[in-house]
Amino acid sequence: MARYIGPVCRICRREGLKLFLKGDRCYSEKCAFDRRPYAPGQHGQARTKQSDYRDQLREKQKVKRMYGLLERQFRLFFQRAERMRGVTGENLLSLLERRLDSTVYRMGFASSRIEARQLVLHNHFTVNGRKVNIPSYVVKAGDVLEVKERSRKVAKIELAMEGADRRPTLSWLELDKKAFKGLVKGNPVREELTLPINEQLIVELYSK
Ligand code: SF4
Repeated sequence: MARYIGPVCRICRREGLKLFLKGDRCYSEKCAFDRRPYAPGQHGQARTKQSDYRDQLREKQKVKRMYGLLERQFRLFFQRAERMRGVTGENLLSLLERRLDSTVYRMGFASSRIEARQLVLHNHFTVNGRKVNIPSYVVKAGDVLEVKERSRKVAKIELAMEGADRRPTLSWLELDKKAFKGLVKGNPVREELTLPINEQLIVELYSK
């Protein structure tokens, strides 16, 4: 599946907030958003016109880019969320959080979603004992993620796990660091999403 391969920090600057797409670099003084907290490009510092459509579009772009998806993939997730019971916006966020790459990142096996996606593609994980190398695979309550035996010395995974304690713990995930295993205890909790997201704006945009 296609993915965005352009400069990543540009995305944070465009969306006007830190999306933490680059792991440890995001917490260092090298963070491009900290140094230039305005939109990229020649007109980045120009005043922009406010409109409801603009707000809805920016919210959708922000969430899409946070999870590293392109438009088509994002819309498929939205359609899936619409078919589920409950509130569409919350369903959408729950599905995105439960993507395998996102869950690997949230568990602490990777320092960013981009890195998690690469590790998943490179076959470093199993779900319930079976090899899964599809980043868009959606995990469910009761699933057990595990780093494969041969992958436990991979530098990126080791480094990420060292820093896992510094991240906020999430009530729907349980990590067993010694066993390189994690359990999905339930569905993601809306309040535990650390970045500000107004999912209702996305629903309004796609309902037009
Ligand atoms: Fe965004 Fe991280 Fe780049 Fe900072 S370093 S601009 S938070 S991706």
